[in-house]
Amino acid sequence: MPGMQTIQFNLPQERIPRAWYNVLADLAEPMAPPLHPGTLKPIGPDDLAPLFPIALIQQEVSTEREIEIPEPVRQIYAQWRPSPLFRARRLEKALDTPAKIYYKYEGVSPAGSHKLNTAVAQAYYNKVEGTRRLATETGAGQWGSSLAMACAFFGLECKVYMVRVSYNQKPYRRALMETFGASVTASPSTETGAGRAILAEHPDTNGSLGIAISEAVEVAAKDPETKYALGSVLNHVLLHQTVIGLEAMEQMALAGDEPDVIVGCTGGGSNFAGLVMPYIGQKIKGKCDARVVAVEPTACPSLTKGPFKYDFGDTGHLTPLVKMHTLGSTFIPPGIHAGGLRYHGMAPLVSHVLEMGLIEATSVQQLEAFAAGVQFVRAEGIIPAPEANHAVAGAIKEALAAKEEGKARTILFNLSGHGHFDMQSYIDYQAGKLQNYDYPEEEIAMALAGLPAVE
Ligand SMILES: *Cc1c(COP(=O)(O)O)cnc(C)c1O
Repeated sequence: MPGMQTIQFNLPQERIPRAWYNVLADLAEPMAPPLHPGTLKPIGPDDLAPLFPIALIQQEVSTEREIEIPEPVRQIYAQWRPSPLFRARRLEKALDTPAKIYYKYEGVSPAGSHKLNTAVAQAYYNKVEGTRRLATETGAGQWGSSLAMACAFFGLECKVYMVRVSYNQKPYRRALMETFGASVTASPSTETGAGRAILAEHPDTNGSLGIAISEAVEVAAKDPETKYALGSVLNHVLLHQTVIGLEAMEQMALAGDEPDVIVGCTGGGSNFAGLVMPYIGQKIKGKCDARVVAVEPTACPSLTKGPFKYDFGDTGHLTPLVKMHTLGSTFIPPGIHAGGLRYHGMAPLVSHVLEMGLIEATSVQQLEAFAAGVQFVRAEGIIPAPEANHAVAGAIKEALAAKEEGKARTILFNLSGHGHFDMQSYIDYQAGKLQNYDYPEEEIAMALAGLPAVE
């Protein structure tokens, strides 16, 4: 049809990437090694073997540039990948901006977010190596739903510790996990030593990802047939998400554009890394000069306010120490609706590329994030997950800055998931019941005072 504007840039199924991209192959500076929590010496594969299958441990430390995606994993990806890239023409118009805005939409996965990209891979490697059951944590429930579905596909049992505030806020997410066949417990729970210790100290706690991780790790460490799966933060998880950026590069080429700014929200850092790491690889080679912007909540600002230090990945101190931007492993973030962003730390890899000056970081308040989400749904029709609203807010800021400067600019952001299970948060927002949270200075200072003494 002449004059019809293209808004979708789609790839055929055979263009699903054949390999994940590992940016560690191209980074000039290596990452600081994870340390054993007891000896404070760098850990080896044997230390992780009770928790993860060997294939994932190898990916965790790999410096190979391309890691082949197993065919059974690609076959499952084919149900929703390649995911669409949209040009947000109506949002551009609503903002009256000279900027072009593109978004990669990961909400088309059956679980509703990017998390399924790694859940399928993790369940596959566990199945191949004979695991019977996977234990995990979930914040808002997107990760739990993704792993529950992947476990159903590969015939694994799935045990999920769901952060208590989300367990209460998001009953339909819990129902989805249970329908996939998973067993879901509110965290902290009385089932684990880590959970009981927190409850003894804070009986009314909202819970946090850091606490739920301790519970799931404890269960996996105690049972030889159970392994642990993490939905973000670790190198192998970020690696699996690079299908997002690899596809986006081809789709931007179809659109005949190159991004000047790339934006993603950051909780543990996986959807952000998934979109941006392939571009960072190009930046390192001098083939891309886009700015790369991570957007986090002001209530839990690890990248913008947390020091780059060794810390535990969990509140119960069962995990190795990793060097990352952290607010302190005992920090329990305020109960914002973007449950997937309520993590005290940040992926060591994302922290590392921030230190190297390859990315920038900024934060937005809860109300600004929801205002952006509402503006987005009215223009584009897709209701974002509360986490993804932070990326939308970041992209809108960039588009308005372009307008102010009277400059054209191409913005690409990751719409990491839909908000169909998060409507209570939109109801509360519309009713004026959501609030901003100031930077929780005192609690963070206390949590940081307890950082392990390692440089
Ligand atoms: C879990 C989640 C996030 C935050 O986690 P990352 O690892 O930082 O990506 C963001 N958006 C959605 C939709 C999520 O489910």
